[in-house]
Amino acid sequence: MSYNYDLFVIGAGSGGIAAARRAAGFGAKVAIAEGNRLGGTCVNRGCIPKKLMVYASHFPALFHDAKGYGWSGVESSFNWQTMITGINNELARLNGVYRQMLETSGVELFSSYAKIIDLHTIEIDNRQVTTDKILIAVGGYPVKPDIPGIEYTITSDDMFLLQSQPKHIAIMGGGYIGVEFACIMNGLGSQVTQLIRRDLILRGFDDDIRTMVQESTIQNGIRIIKVNDPPVIEKTPDGLNVILGDTHQETIPVDAVLTAVGRKPNIKNLGLENAGVEIKNGAIAVNRYSQTSQPNIFAVGDCTDRMNLTPVAINEGRAFADTEFGGKSRTMSYDNIPTAVFSTPEVATVGLRESEANEKFGEEAIKVYRAKFKPTYHGMSGRDARVMVKLVVEAKTDKVLGAHIVGENAAEIIQGIAIALKMGAKKSDFDATVGLHPSIAEEFVTLR
Ligand code: NDP
Repeated sequence: MSYNYDLFVIGAGSGGIAAARRAAGFGAKVAIAEGNRLGGTCVNRGCIPKKLMVYASHFPALFHDAKGYGWSGVESSFNWQTMITGINNELARLNGVYRQMLETSGVELFSSYAKIIDLHTIEIDNRQVTTDKILIAVGGYPVKPDIPGIEYTITSDDMFLLQSQPKHIAIMGGGYIGVEFACIMNGLGSQVTQLIRRDLILRGFDDDIRTMVQESTIQNGIRIIKVNDPPVIEKTPDGLNVILGDTHQETIPVDAVLTAVGRKPNIKNLGLENAGVEIKNGAIAVNRYSQTSQPNIFAVGDCTDRMNLTPVAINEGRAFADTEFGGKSRTMSYDNIPTAVFSTPEVATVGLRESEANEKFGEEAIKVYRAKFKPTYHGMSGRDARVMVKLVVEAKTDKVLGAHIVGENAAEIIQGIAIALKMGAKKSDFDATVGLHPSIAEEFVTLR
């Protein structure tokens, strides 16, 4: 049977574009559908605009530090609209780069939303096309908690659209997004109140990291409040009130409330039921080859809710294309995937946290090496900022199971350490490596 396409990809985000280009590179006839801007969450509403905001938020600290190094004080003010315009210009450039990349790869782009009609038929632009294989890469969306006044709150998607800077922002959630935006807005000069429901932010990270980042962000001026009962949000003539119940009984006037309580797969209106694609816990169920319950339909990235990170979606997409179109059967390995939180101070981690290693191997079987220190830079910055590096090692084999860091350039440092862990490096390999002096990274090879 002949089809219009060998592969039809639904969703031109990180995973979809990577898979489409790789498959087309193997000679497949590929189409991709995207109703929104090219690049998906990461490029348009996530990693990239967020990281640009992180950079913007670091300048006041640099202006401060410069004085310790002999520079005269900087008289500067911040213009929110200039930053947002700059971010939008950069995103438009990246959208153009993606369009160009699809064109040069020979992938046909439909700039509309697609719907699955049956196993081999897609409806797009009011017509139907046929395809041998379908790849679903539609990503996720931020969920909102069910609290009174939720309609007055915004999500991370809206943060990049705000016309003016909130003077005081309340942030619900202590995960990646809540912590990153709390630090960004604090750095940009907004007053920040963060509501969390546990003792510590960043559940899922090593406890030493969680404690250090929480202490540091409080020291940097963020107010963190642990709330047992969800708050009530009320509109006022001047903005919003965040009304805290239980032990707090406090009303906090703010200009904006950001909810950052997690994300869900974006699988509505896709026509999955028309093809009998199985859903599990709200996500598209897939095997290790990213194959759904239907052998010719595949899914990658956040819509499968495995590990919701851009480089993971890209790898899943490429593994799919290699297997299905490149004659190289390949699955994605989820071991030792590094991850970072672009907070201030920054966090980066790869491998097992101490508690995980203890659970898996037993406490006596684990050795932990840790150093907390003032880096050379802060010797003259006039800021009391510290760095922490930590290795979790299996005593019997000497294998490094986990590496963790809190501090400047943490993400840049852990990327290299992740290669070592992926190769099965031992603590003795770290010890045998000569340090690069003076640097923060050298502490990883001098831990005793
Ligand atoms: P996370 O799952 O990381 O964190 C959600 C936070 O919201 C947790 O602190 C959680 O608390 C809290 N929460 C959940 N439900 C409620 C509720 N009903 N009331 C109050 N608090 C609640 O989700 P995010 O939205 O921060 O991020 C989504 C995902 O996006 C991340 O998991 C990550 O995969 C990805 N991401 C990655 C980034 C990166 O790589 N740097 C950056 C941003 C996002 P509790 O801990 O108690 O459950």
